[in-house]
Amino acid sequence: MRIGVLGAGQLGRMLALAGYPLANTFVFYDISGNPSVGLGDIIIDRDEQYLDDFLSRVDRVTYEFEHLPVHIAEKIAASKPVHPAPRSLQVCQNREAEKKLFGALGIPTPEWRMADSPESLKAAAEALGCPVVAKSNTEGYDGKGQAVLRSPEDASDAWHSINHSRLMVEKFVDFSREVSIISVRGEDGQVAVYPITENIHHDGILRYSVAPAPGLTPPVSEQAERFASALLNELNYVGVLALELFETPEGLVANEMAPRVHNSGHWTIEGASTSQFENHIRAVSGQPLGDVSPRGVSCMINIIGEHGDIRRIMELPYTHVHLYDKLERPGRKLGHINVLADNYAELVWRVRNCAEFLPGTPEFKSSLSRG
Ligand code: AMP
Repeated sequence: MRIGVLGAGQLGRMLALAGYPLANTFVFYDISGNPSVGLGDIIIDRDEQYLDDFLSRVDRVTYEFEHLPVHIAEKIAASKPVHPAPRSLQVCQNREAEKKLFGALGIPTPEWRMADSPESLKAAAEALGCPVVAKSNTEGYDGKGQAVLRSPEDASDAWHSINHSRLMVEKFVDFSREVSIISVRGEDGQVAVYPITENIHHDGILRYSVAPAPGLTPPVSEQAERFASALLNELNYVGVLALELFETPEGLVANEMAPRVHNSGHWTIEGASTSQFENHIRAVSGQPLGDVSPRGVSCMINIIGEHGDIRRIMELPYTHVHLYDKLERPGRKLGHINVLADNYAELVWRVRNCAEFLPGTPEFKSSLSRG
């Protein structure tokens, strides 16, 4: 099948790497002018001149980033199947729409209010009780366009620093850890859910993911699976969906979702029977889904900003190195390393050993370090 991908970054690259063995071909449509996918055919089109050319060369269309103009996805959907459907894109681009959908499906969220002026931000902070997190309602990612208000008096500074006309204001969640759930739904409605992943962020950027998240109890796993299934079915979704959650003593609280393969699912490449990338391609191309069982325990380490001593890391027998063929730049995702082990104690030791060869990588601290 000829698969068209909107976006041409590392996620598209990994989709293609998973899709070629199943005899798919790939055409990427890039509106950024800066594709990094490095394989397949790439159409660079900043002003929609070549959309028809792109469409003439593909059977189905999917996307690898969600900050894509919805009208492009809708235009494409009029002539070719687009998975996931453009409604998912619309919801994920707008925090208010996303939180409303969570609420309608009974998925708990932090208490929230909207603000469209410094005064209403202050009122929201007072109503919710500080601390609160204010986020631009649209166009936010990796913690950008956000501010924490310790007191309602911070409203004016926060409003000006975010510099956006509409803000989502959320009660600050005192979480024990951040987790995510990667799920997939096939064209026939079949749903599969990977084990919950524990995610460790620094400065808003994901650094480590551990899967399955240590210490999961069946009720928590079942709760997460219920949330994922509810979203997939409501959106009549086809493909991989990532849902980011906070774990608290009272249960899981949803933060946000992404209508695509996700950085916190990269461990599945070697750490699960079928990777998130292959399952996304299977779903989008109308094939049956693959088994999502984990193979032992895994940790994904992101390579951020500089490559470090990759040769030494490749010598370690338990690492799988994935490089995105990108130039070094502070804060840039250049690749990731999947570390596999038979148990968590071994995993911690291996991850620490590997991280020593990645300068600038924060120390590996997870729920495992808390004992
Ligand atoms: P987001 O862009 O919404 O994923 O937020 C980026 C990061 O900010 C999250 O990964 C959390 O670490 C933190 N964060 C976001 N919302 C909240 C919240 N309501 N309470 C506590 N921390 C939050």
